[in-house]
Amino acid sequence: MSMQRFDIVVAGGGMVGAAGALALAREGFSVALVERHAPRPLQPGDPPELRVVALSLASERLLRRLGAWEYMESVRTSPYTDMHVWDADFEGVHFDAAEIGESFLGHIVENRLVQHALWQRFQEADNATCLCPAAIAQATPQDDGIDIELEDGRRLRAALLVAADGAASPLREAFGIPVERGDYGQRGIVGVIRTQKPHQATAWQHFLPTGPLAFLPLADGSISIVWSAESSEAARLLALPDDEFRAELGKASDHVLGEVTECGPRASFPLRRQHAKTYVHERAVLIGDAAHVIHPLAGQGANLGFMDVATLVEVLVDARQSGRDFAQARVLRRYERRRRGDNATVMWAMEGFHRLFSNEDRTLGWLRNAGFRVFDRSGGLKRYIVRQAMGLRDDLPALVR
Ligand SMILES: Cc1cc2nc3c(=O)[nH]c(=O)nc-3n(C[C@H](O)[C@H](O)[C@H](O)COP(=O)(O)OP(=O)(O)OC[C@H]3O[C@@H](n4cnc5c(N)ncnc54)[C@H](O)[C@@H]3O)c2cc1C
Repeated sequence: MSMQRFDIVVAGGGMVGAAGALALAREGFSVALVERHAPRPLQPGDPPELRVVALSLASERLLRRLGAWEYMESVRTSPYTDMHVWDADFEGVHFDAAEIGESFLGHIVENRLVQHALWQRFQEADNATCLCPAAIAQATPQDDGIDIELEDGRRLRAALLVAADGAASPLREAFGIPVERGDYGQRGIVGVIRTQKPHQATAWQHFLPTGPLAFLPLADGSISIVWSAESSEAARLLALPDDEFRAELGKASDHVLGEVTECGPRASFPLRRQHAKTYVHERAVLIGDAAHVIHPLAGQGANLGFMDVATLVEVLVDARQSGRDFAQARVLRRYERRRRGDNATVMWAMEGFHRLFSNEDRTLGWLRNAGFRVFDRSGGLKRYIVRQAMGLRDDLPALVR
């Protein structure tokens, strides 16, 4: 069988891999995207999906530049203007987009819609080849490229392999890249509900000692939940009949939006923290969940993955423009240096929040709430934190500026 040649092969066409493949193809690299399952399209009238993401303004900019945002908006996106965070002892911190001169804090969008929009654009792009259904069986680095064998026997040759194959990343494992892991012993229950009161375009986050509960506003007035609970408790909650689940959920939310009046199917995902010791292997590089997985309590995982994409593209384009081999370890390490600190900071911030709130120690509770009162009135510091969470910083790569 003949060998197909590309500048770059991207393994994994989830949100992050698809964004990476599209961005690289638009920069003139010849790119193949290898994925096991194509995303199904989503129509405006379809019921809301279980998996959603809160996308920052920086991620929105990337998706706009890649031409995916317009399509997403034509189906449905849900801007949120406010965020309210509270716990049992404290009435809470309120974040308002107007306070920082923006019209919203971010958008809640279904994962499948983001992925499908990116796939559509990739399939229309020049220099882009979609290999799906397909999976990588083996990748062997050579001096001047990497040989890739697909499970169906097809062979590819690329200058660079980008592994965007998710948290379990078969490529990361095959390359023997160690991973630092922490297991929260929790699962995140997801589902779509309706409540007595409207969601008010607000993301509601209640910190319970057992883990955070988020109510995220959707475009049709329904609400997407992420309810973190210890694994056996999550199994119990998932198995409850609908009326009992609604009653427990209403109680857990402090009835902030009244009773939970409807609830659809539910699912759950393991919650963990994971960071690859290196993002770089010979002629290969990790992005997205393959490189880092964080607790979803502040909804930042995919946003970090999109920042990986914007940074990697900038570094590869710079190297190519200055006539260097863009897949050299020295070049790839520039990407790693620029992303590792940011990813680690957000990961440890999530860890800190998780520990601070999942603790019933009264003294710690008092200190926590005193701290939050000061923070809520802090003006400048509060605005700074909100802008960081929206991905608005001074040192952004061109694609998200
Ligand atoms: C409950 C929950 C809530 C979350 N909420 C948010 C949020 O609000 N905001 C946010 O930013 N993030 C959020 N996240 C995180 C976010 O969902 C992930 O960070 C993001 O989906 C990772 O995308 P990815 O493309 O890196 O990986 P994935 O989505 O896992 O994609 C990997 C892809 O690789 C493919 N693949 C795997 N192996 C192979 C192979 N051998 N060959 C070919 N293809 C392969 C898979 O089929 C898959 O399509 C949340 C996560 C959870 C669990």
